[in-house]
Amino acid sequence: MFGLYVHVPFCRRKCIYCNFYSVAHLASRIPFLATLQEEMAFRGQAVTVPVSTLYFGGGTPTLLSIEELEKIMTYVKQVFDISALEECTIEANPEDLTTGYCQQLISLGFNRISIGIQSTNDLILQHLRRRHTAKEAIDAVYRAYEAGFSNISIDLIYGLWERSLHMWKDELTVASRLPITHISAYALTVEENTCLYRQLKKKQQPVVDEHQFVSEYYLLKEFIQKAGFFQYEISNFALPGYHSRHNSNYWQHIPYMGFGPSAHSFMKNTRTQNANTLDLYIKNAKNKCFTVESESLTEHDMYNEYIMLGLRTTRGVSIKKIREQFGTSLETHLINELYNIQNQYYTLNNEQLSLTTDGQLVSDYLIHRLFI
Ligand code: SF4
Repeated sequence: MFGLYVHVPFCRRKCIYCNFYSVAHLASRIPFLATLQEEMAFRGQAVTVPVSTLYFGGGTPTLLSIEELEKIMTYVKQVFDISALEECTIEANPEDLTTGYCQQLISLGFNRISIGIQSTNDLILQHLRRRHTAKEAIDAVYRAYEAGFSNISIDLIYGLWERSLHMWKDELTVASRLPITHISAYALTVEENTCLYRQLKKKQQPVVDEHQFVSEYYLLKEFIQKAGFFQYEISNFALPGYHSRHNSNYWQHIPYMGFGPSAHSFMKNTRTQNANTLDLYIKNAKNKCFTVESESLTEHDMYNEYIMLGLRTTRGVSIKKIREQFGTSLETHLINELYNIQNQYYTLNNEQLSLTTDGQLVSDYLIHRLFI
């Protein structure tokens, strides 16, 4: 198995909470496409296996025209074997999704669409500086469905300061009735270099109450699971058979190659990162210098990553695998650390360790406790 990721670094404007790399203009789309073609031709030579998943993320890939997306698809096909492609996803913003555009996306080969609706409440969408209303978001999901997408994911954000539990329940009710197969529900995190971070520092936004955040997570899990979605990762819920193959492969250390500014890759136990701005990405391409950082993972790094990625999934991590792959000393380290963690936070059955809901709420802390 092998994954490809294409980072399209354009947005119409920056949402206040977002720290994904993107620029709020389209001026460089032509040099971006040319550089992407060069990068795939150059770096893609290292990939000798068929590609199983392809993911267009960003940024906002649906800011590109169908002709531009078609060009990227052509570059992909020129370099990679996609005859065994299982899943081909594009991230989309609701305002870009006309029926005709969705039909053409399907013709290009996309069989999954991830729509960033974020909320079904207008007040919250305005605060997040989203460009669409709740009705526009809902209509976009229906248009994608009616155009022929049978695998639709939506993004939601919780842990927001304006929202009561009652409002959150209303939003989940609306969301769960949409013709969707997957929900990614993310807790709002305040990252440096975001407008939200600066607003909080200036006390222009109230801080989110921790109890509210916890209540929202419990409600999310209970509500979504009653609606037939199963949780397979802390932030991800799917109808049976509709988990994201691409992201699930990340969490299982399946190799992937990312293209475009700020994209990451993981191959042969080495992580690399591309130039993290569009200007630098285009400039460096003249010297065929696309990746700017590279880190070979040691055995301990690989163990830490296995813990970090595995404990975010509901499947968890296998003690047997740790023993067999990393040796008895790391197995002993893990078991000793677990003795110091209250058992309300985890379950250990048949050598499979996973987090309870209480544990998921403090997952970062627990995962770091188990690191070597
Ligand atoms: S959340 Fe999406 S649309 Fe908003 S700035 Fe980030 S990448 Fe762009």
